[in-house]
Amino acid sequence: MPTYNFSAGPAVMPTPVVQQIQAELPSFQDSGMSIMEISHRSQLFDQVINDAEQDLRDLMQIPANYRVLFFQGGGTLQFTAAPLNLATAHHHIGLLDSGHWASRAADEAQRTHTQVDILASAHATNYTTLPTLTQPVDPTLDYVHLTTNNTIEGTMYTQLPATGNVPLVADMSSNFLGQTYNVQDFGMIFAGAQKNLGPAGLTIVIVRDDLIGHAQNLPSMLDYQLFADKRSMFNTPPVFAIYAAGLVLKWLKAQGGLAAMQQRNQQKAALLYDFLDQSQLFRNPVEPAARSTMNVPFVTGDPALDAAFIAGATEHGLLNLKGHRLVGGMRASLYNAMPTAGVTALVDYLAAFEAAHTKGVLN
Ligand SMILES: *Cc1c(COP(=O)(O)O)cnc(C)c1O
Repeated sequence: MPTYNFSAGPAVMPTPVVQQIQAELPSFQDSGMSIMEISHRSQLFDQVINDAEQDLRDLMQIPANYRVLFFQGGGTLQFTAAPLNLATAHHHIGLLDSGHWASRAADEAQRTHTQVDILASAHATNYTTLPTLTQPVDPTLDYVHLTTNNTIEGTMYTQLPATGNVPLVADMSSNFLGQTYNVQDFGMIFAGAQKNLGPAGLTIVIVRDDLIGHAQNLPSMLDYQLFADKRSMFNTPPVFAIYAAGLVLKWLKAQGGLAAMQQRNQQKAALLYDFLDQSQLFRNPVEPAARSTMNVPFVTGDPALDAAFIAGATEHGLLNLKGHRLVGGMRASLYNAMPTAGVTALVDYLAAFEAAHTKGVLN
């Protein structure tokens, strides 16, 4: 029986990539050493990190005036690093309150003594909609923080808010490379790798070069300018995670790039949403225009039935469908590496479960 991993993160990786890692693990490029054992200062690794950066630049069409940085510390560290590096003029940012991760970003920014204005919030709809700007943003804000995909709530921005000359800083952790955006529309993009790019331990930062280098006396490990100058090798970078992410980037190119990926993601998500919208038992609470193609939360409304569904799904090889502990219910994450066959298997099982549990109720 095939298994499908619907985890929100760390999440499914492309099978051919995992197999390639297995095949070349004992001896990377005939060096007699595994990738985990080679120096980050070696020629071998130089090629790995250069290819990863170039492939990412090709896939996202990253302009030359943007730096690509490889960090550790997860998406969460960037909640601290972004204000320290970019909120240097007024120590004052705006934020769209789209859910859990946006609110975590606000908390961490405040810990850096940055003033955070909530420009709009979806709190009133329990985050089943997206907050949007209704008035022009204060032009003195250092930047506006946006979470492009809300991993827990299952909402996703496809249209960006207009912030005038104020740079947008995007937490793209959960739809990085799964949805196309114009890099020029952002001052900075960051994403933890373990949702849609590779193993945990790596975070990508893409930042416009005129925005960095203005902060004084930052801790070295948080300093974007230093990381840019040192090509992300101020200290030992996460060598294995960069290598594995590099293989995923090559896989993405072979799949036809990000536009092809986005189209496939829309088709996969539509299979699931179409089922949920006609179901008598399951439902997705998110306003249709705000729905994520990456993370799809759904419920029956009865926690005992939800638990029975999750247990049965697991027995059928449909893994990690339990919803986030903050919201309960179920959540299916349909990242780039989730094949259409996985979504079809999920929909088939949803239909079978519904048939078994609504008999007698409907008639
Ligand atoms: C997972 C996630 C994070 C946190 O990522 P870590 O790598 O665990 O720090 C931040 N933002 C979003 C949108 C996420 O999905």
